[in-house]
Amino acid sequence: MHIADIVKLQGSTFSFEFFPPKSDTMAADLFQNISELAPLKPSFVSVTYGAGGSTREMTHELVVKLRTTTPLDPIPHLTCVCHSRAEIEGILERYAAAGISNIMALRGDVPRGLPEGESAWKDFRYAADLVKCIREFNVGRAHPDRRGFGVGVAGYPEGHAETPNRLLELDRLKAKIDAGADFIVTQLFFDNRDFYDFRSRCELAGIRVPIIAGVMPITSLAGMQRMADLALGSRFPAPLIRAINRTGGDADAVKRVGVHWATEQCRDLLDHGVAGVHFYTLNRSTATREIYATLGVRDSQDLRGV
Ligand code: FAD
Repeated sequence: MHIADIVKLQGSTFSFEFFPPKSDTMAADLFQNISELAPLKPSFVSVTYGAGGSTREMTHELVVKLRTTTPLDPIPHLTCVCHSRAEIEGILERYAAAGISNIMALRGDVPRGLPEGESAWKDFRYAADLVKCIREFNVGRAHPDRRGFGVGVAGYPEGHAETPNRLLELDRLKAKIDAGADFIVTQLFFDNRDFYDFRSRCELAGIRVPIIAGVMPITSLAGMQRMADLALGSRFPAPLIRAINRTGGDADAVKRVGVHWATEQCRDLLDHGVAGVHFYTLNRSTATREIYATLGVRDSQDLRGV
């Protein structure tokens, strides 16, 4: 089912993001965590796509495995950097044949170590070009849904690092919607006011598709540092930093504070009629399960009409 239809049906969605495991041990670990997350009946799950060549096939493998061996509805991420149109169409053919209903369409970042003289930009320059390509692919191709794939794109409540100013940010997001995207999943954020302001700016820009909020609980100081290093745009609000500082670096306390913060974010987002919350799980189940438990939500079906 298309994500926009799931949101219409459920009111609010809860969904999870995974990345493809790089070894058999990591795969076993991931499927253990997935077996713990499946009873939460996520509205959908998404699987990231590596910008470099070597891990790309793993996304397809994991998506097909989730589709065929679990009750989960997987959405592959797809980046257009370093891909030709023919390659993208080949990938879409395989996902259509596997009965996949939605694709997250992203530009991706130029991988480190790209051979000298090789351009990352073949037939696509921006995510909007990929969205357009998927929409064109949808016309007249064999797909279980006669409308073809639903298409999601990335949104940045705090702005994308390469966008020179915040007014352009919304123009560029709007270009992805005009090209045919029908839902948005946001970058993670820690202050809901950034999300609400982003949502209002989308409305002013005439963006009417569901906006799903990306949430990632801090579970360690090292993880927090990584989020900052990756320049995800994450603004750590002063009350969050104060709460983390009070732990004195105690690992269990940092995790409790991080999960509590994310739980409060989710409760507040639900109270403000969010279309959905997408949990960046890092292939772990504990934090997400704790958030559901503290919210009193048995599974994502409990979100219907609340
Ligand atoms: P775009 O929307 O194309 O934007 C990229 C930049 O180009 C922006 O600064 C934008 O302002 C600018 N731009 C857009 N159009 C124009 C134009 N016409 N003229 C000039 N400038 C323009 N990365 C991965 O490698 N794999 C993943 O699986 C993955 N999943 C993600 C999931 C989510 C929910 C999010 C938020 C990000 C994800 N990313 C992933 C990261 C993403 O690929 C990077 O943030 C990337 O830098 C931008 O991708 P985009 O799709 O937002 O690109």
